[in-house]
Parts: sequence; C-alpha cells; structure tokens
Amino acid sequence: MSIPNLILAYALAMLAGLAGLGIYSEYRRRRFEPRPSEDRIFRCQRCGYVYTDDPDVDRSRCSQCGLTNDAIEF
Ligand SMILES: [Zn+2]
Repeated sequence: MSIPNLILAYALAMLAGLAGLGIYSEYRRRRFEPRPSEDRIFRCQRCGYVYTDDPDVDRSRCSQCGLTNDAIEF
C-alpha cells in the first residue's frame, strides 16, 4: 500500500466515523425529543425571573433571589 492510499484510507475511515457519530447523536436526539417540556414553569413574584423545575414539585425556589414560588398553571 502506498502512502497516498494510506492517507486516503485514513481520511475515509475518519469520515465514516464522523458520519456514524452524527447518525448516532441524531438517533439519540429523536429518542429523547418526544417529551418537549413537561417541567413546570415558575415565575418569581419578587424579581420576575422565569424558570422551570421538575413536574412533581408544587413549589420551587427562585435561583436568583431565593423566594419560593408557586407553579404557573395553564
Ligand atoms: Zn426571584
């Protein structure tokens, strides 16, 4: 095998690896996407900061000022 062929083979192997990685990450992204945002949304009554927290909590502490707020219901 000559040197240019080796370099070509190496470049092709790199490309194949990158393509495989891209397909894999796309597959992972799609698997996790069908759950948009089930998190609850909170709006701080003191500083107005909007943030999210786990869906199973009723009250969450504002990360900006520390005030505990109720979730916004839609
Ligand atoms: Zn706040």
